Amino acid sequence: MENQEKLALAIRKEMIYFNVKRMRTVAWSLMYVSAVITIIHYGEVFFSKTERVMVPAYIAIHTILFYIDLAVLLLIKEKKLHVTFLNMRKYEMVLLMYIYTVLLLITVITVMDVYYFKHVALYEVLFLIICTVFAISFRKIYPLIAVTALAIFISAYLGNGISGESIKVFLPLSLILPIGFVIQYHTYKNQKQFITQHILLGEEMAKSKQFSKLLVEKNNELLEQALRDSLTNLPNRRAFNNKLVQIGQQLHKAKNLTVMMIDIDFFKNFNDHYGHLQGDEALIKVAALLDEIAEKYNAFVARWGGEEFIIVSQHASKFAEHVCEEILEEVRSLNIRHEHSKIADIVTVSIGMCHAKISKIEQLEKCCELADQALYKAKENGRNNFYLHSAEDFHLYR
Ligand code: GH3
Ligand code: MG
Ligand code: MG
Repeated sequence: MENQEKLALAIRKEMIYFNVKRMRTVAWSLMYVSAVITIIHYGEVFFSKTERVMVPAYIAIHTILFYIDLAVLLLIKEKKLHVTFLNMRKYEMVLLMYIYTVLLLITVITVMDVYYFKHVALYEVLFLIICTVFAISFRKIYPLIAVTALAIFISAYLGNGISGESIKVFLPLSLILPIGFVIQYHTYKNQKQFITQHILLGEEMAKSKQFSKLLVEKNNELLEQALRDSLTNLPNRRAFNNKLVQIGQQLHKAKNLTVMMIDIDFFKNFNDHYGHLQGDEALIKVAALLDEIAEKYNAFVARWGGEEFIIVSQHASKFAEHVCEEILEEVRSLNIRHEHSKIADIVTVSIGMCHAKISKIEQLEKCCELADQALYKAKENGRNNFYLHSAEDFHLYR
């Protein structure tokens, strides 16, 4: 119901918009016609010795018509023509006032013509044009047109009586009006239908636009989710692989690369002793810490799987060693109790690191492999420490 009302309002607005545009055209035409007729009448007064009756009245009415049209044109300049839901009543009022006034004045002239001079020609045509132009989509003026037509018929009857002459003059009028109305009615219906479709289409387009936007957002969200580990919210292994591809694409010249594999010591024991839930909590804490450190050093961290994390950065080796020290220290500072660790009573980690200057994509993977091997070395060396493989040890460049 609410939608129906909104649609009706939108249609009304569009109709007013069309009509106001028509009013401009009519006002322009009428202004020219009034100016020309006024000049002709002045000429008549000036040159002819025998002044015709009613000429001053004609001049007065046409002058009024001229100024009304001028006022309307000044009021509604095309640039400022902007019908909205808020101002449409104002436009509708101007439109109605204009049509009423113009039709009234033209009716007066026509009645005068018919009554005094027993002809209608020009004003009849003007009357019909105005009626047709506006009646197309402005049904409110139907009663007015009927009253006006009746006035003209009555004055014609009073002026001419029912003579052959009056029938000859009014036959076209009597035929044109009903035919005009039939045409107007159909045009009105088509126009309304067109506007309705236009509006509905606009709504559909807006809806589908909104829908595609939502779809894109959801898609991005899913994509984001697919690249994150659900427990720790760190990038997952797939995201890490993407990162490697990205680094590989930027290998135009040799670059520093550091890969760190970080593994929690005796974590199986932790789980066995404290339970999986507490194990999860410990993982989340360590992950958050690594995330913080990685961000601080502009490095990329991911959950490699299980209780293992991986960090990739482009720091020089000395600096990377410093970062390893910091990670070891900060994990210990988390002070997560781990009574069943064989090396301490808190959670600790071991780090395997590989540092190399690389220039080929294959060397990236090799570097990860070496970091993994370094991790074993760190474990062998007693855990809670780090082991560095520099690339030369493994002939990475040969
Ligand atoms: P090491 O010091 O040699 O690394 O010994 P470890 O026990 O840490 O290593 P191991 O690979 O034997 O065990 C890893 C454990 O990590 C096994 C598994 O229960 C635990 N784990 C892996 N993923 C999760 C997880 O998502 N949540 C929890 N709570 N535990 C996990
Ligand atoms: Mg492990
Ligand atoms: Mg472990």
